[in-house]
Amino acid sequence: MSYVDEVIAKVVEQNPSEPEFHQAVKEVLESLRVVIEANEEKYRKDALLERMVNPERQFKFRVPWVDDKGQVQVNTGYRVQFNSAIGPYKGGIRLHPSVNIGIIKFLGFEQVFKNSLTGLPIGGGKGGSDFDPKGKSDREVMAFCQSFMTELCKYIGADTDVPAGDIGTGAREIGYMFGQYKRIRGLYEGVLTGKGLSYGGSLARTEATGYGLLYLTQELLKLNGIELAGKTVCVSGAGNVAIYAIEKAQQLGAKVVTASDSTGWVYDPDGIDVAALKEIKEVKRARLTEYKNYRPNAEYHEGRGVWSVKCDVALPCATQNELLIDDAKQLAANGCLAVCEGANMPTTMDATEYLQKNGVIFAPGKAANAGGVATSALEMTQNSERLSWTFEEVDAKLQGIMVNICHNMVDAAERYGMKGNYVAGANIAGFEKVVDAMNAQGIV
Ligand code: GLU
Repeated sequence: MSYVDEVIAKVVEQNPSEPEFHQAVKEVLESLRVVIEANEEKYRKDALLERMVNPERQFKFRVPWVDDKGQVQVNTGYRVQFNSAIGPYKGGIRLHPSVNIGIIKFLGFEQVFKNSLTGLPIGGGKGGSDFDPKGKSDREVMAFCQSFMTELCKYIGADTDVPAGDIGTGAREIGYMFGQYKRIRGLYEGVLTGKGLSYGGSLARTEATGYGLLYLTQELLKLNGIELAGKTVCVSGAGNVAIYAIEKAQQLGAKVVTASDSTGWVYDPDGIDVAALKEIKEVKRARLTEYKNYRPNAEYHEGRGVWSVKCDVALPCATQNELLIDDAKQLAANGCLAVCEGANMPTTMDATEYLQKNGVIFAPGKAANAGGVATSALEMTQNSERLSWTFEEVDAKLQGIMVNICHNMVDAAERYGMKGNYVAGANIAGFEKVVDAMNAQGIV
């Protein structure tokens, strides 16, 4: 059996009931097959892949908190410190009822390669909890965040592990967590990113994932001889990534006609009204059903359906496995030119393969959504030098990083004879740097 197949089989056997983690490992290792086969003997002897797929350590802890009725609630918290070869662990905290160890491990594994691709000195990690901030009062969210951080603060620090936001964790949650860390540890340090601007946050961090997605998309289209301006774009999601992806797409001259949340989706033939979307989601924390009150011409539909709308570019920005094989078929049949992932692993493996085989440009999340974590690394830099850069400075750096990622991904695919396979390109480019750092640091 080849080394790749052996390790995939072991991952499945040793991590039962973690399908998303299996999926992420399979996607990465399958696409690295040529690279690994060229070095099979050495890698096998060094157990390189076993070390890649096993987190350096993982924490699972109880998070008790008191709700507004005085009832004690208990959630489970996680932090997976996956790989620190190129820098302190870095990655978000997901707060969502679907969170379990398999989800956090898949996200942590992806993060290792994503962070490497940014070219910045950050290792990979991820954390979270099955706590659902939706429908909770601010006080309940604070109680949860304080309890979560009371345990988490033992394992993190500005030079060891720097968490950030992800689904369910935004500015409010980061603020409560930062306050509790500072109170317990007595350290005012850049231990979290995505902080508010008044206490060490970076300008452009809020916008970074969505803006970065568009910078990469625009560059990749350009390399394929396509102009983004004037194109129709479908976006899924209505969270931080989706909102700022829509905003930047419109600034770059495209027309975005959809957005979605966990209950339904909107089609706005005149182009999504970003100000309305921000008010509904960021201020009112309400459902997309409200969107029609702002835009009477728009349609609201229950359930899923964004990918049935005819578009030139599709940007899945909601969550994992939201773009399925039938969606891929419909997008391709509708003449979609490109799918660029704003979320982490939103496209299933068979859907990805279908798109690639049918001539649709496909940019994987670990490259396309790396702008968020890259700007987090810029926030760490600013915290270390105790300075704040202007929006324009951060945004210019972000653009440079995304264009670089795009070229590295394209070039790596070509180097291994897989021109146009950007999944392979991103995985190879991310993998090479991590391997180099791991080899240099010995068997640890
Ligand atoms: N949660 C984001 C991601 O998936 C950002 C992580 C960070 O800023 O550390 O990359």
